[in-house]
Amino acid sequence: MSALPQATDAWPAADLESVPACPVCAEARRVVWREGVVDAAFRAAPGRWTLWRCMGCDAAYLDPRPTAASIGRAYSRYYTHAGEPAKNFLVPGDRPDLWFKRAMHLSHYARAYAHHQRGVWPLIGRLIDASAWRRARAGQFIRHLPGPQSEADELLDVGCGDGGFLRVARALGYRARGIEFDPQSAQTAQRQGFDVFIGGVDTAPLPQVSLAQITLSHVIEHLHDPIAVLRRLHAALRPGGRIWLQTPNIDSRGAERFGVAWRGLEAPRHLVMFNAASLSSALTRAGFAAAQLLPPQLDAAFYIEQSTAMAEGRDPYQNDRARRRAARREGKALDRAALTDPAHAESITLIAFKR
Ligand SMILES: [Zn+2]
Repeated sequence: MSALPQATDAWPAADLESVPACPVCAEARRVVWREGVVDAAFRAAPGRWTLWRCMGCDAAYLDPRPTAASIGRAYSRYYTHAGEPAKNFLVPGDRPDLWFKRAMHLSHYARAYAHHQRGVWPLIGRLIDASAWRRARAGQFIRHLPGPQSEADELLDVGCGDGGFLRVARALGYRARGIEFDPQSAQTAQRQGFDVFIGGVDTAPLPQVSLAQITLSHVIEHLHDPIAVLRRLHAALRPGGRIWLQTPNIDSRGAERFGVAWRGLEAPRHLVMFNAASLSSALTRAGFAAAQLLPPQLDAAFYIEQSTAMAEGRDPYQNDRARRRAARREGKALDRAALTDPAHAESITLIAFKR
């Protein structure tokens, strides 16, 4: 491992840009929300960063921030790029050992999401139906995707990585394509037969008025101009088409408790951050009909474990079993609270439709 960036190191001034007004709503009035944020998660980017809270739409944004031309350097030590796509129990043939879990989920999806897979057992989905916890998990596995209306229905996953969700969407009957700026991950997806554009969503060629579904999992917070991208995606959807987004929640309990050490901040890679209200208003601004907040990803254990390590100056990716067990216990309690109060979950999941 190369030397970690020091607090005294700075992002070169020539590669910074100022953001005098909110990138979402253009409001200039704001208050400091978090100061002195460092890249404690990946230690890839030097600098101490300030997040401002917009007094117009309540979004949070970095000012100053790395320019679009220089931001790539902040990703030098980002997630590892495995050469093999992750196996998924919903993909036929992937995990034959999990046949019962698959049958149970397909049965639930048939009833709750209008999926029409062959050979589904009607009753065992009730095991999921009966529990809010299991329903939330099952919904997140398929990004709350309804069954396709025809074989022509197409899904675009923006930031598709190695194609993990494209494989699920294909197994559920969608034609699936992706956009991914990391070439290694994108090539793994391409090898599985997916059409994946390598590059940013701002420059990707998009179909017009034809897509049935678009998903963005932990992508919107990385964009310099989220509204411009949402408008482009809106134009790519057909009327009645749906966008699904998940992003860290600046109104989460972890964000409040851990302050600058909250794992969700991830400066300077997260440029604009949201709560349910501000993401909803961003979607409206981009042309979507009223957005809807969905049951949360039950991911509090991850945020607690990593944020605790960062607050103590440890590497959050250094495994520690005892600490992980403690984080799991605590995370479970937070996740239970989030089930009834998704606006304060660690991440928020929203959908919105094109009229
Ligand atoms: Zn704003």
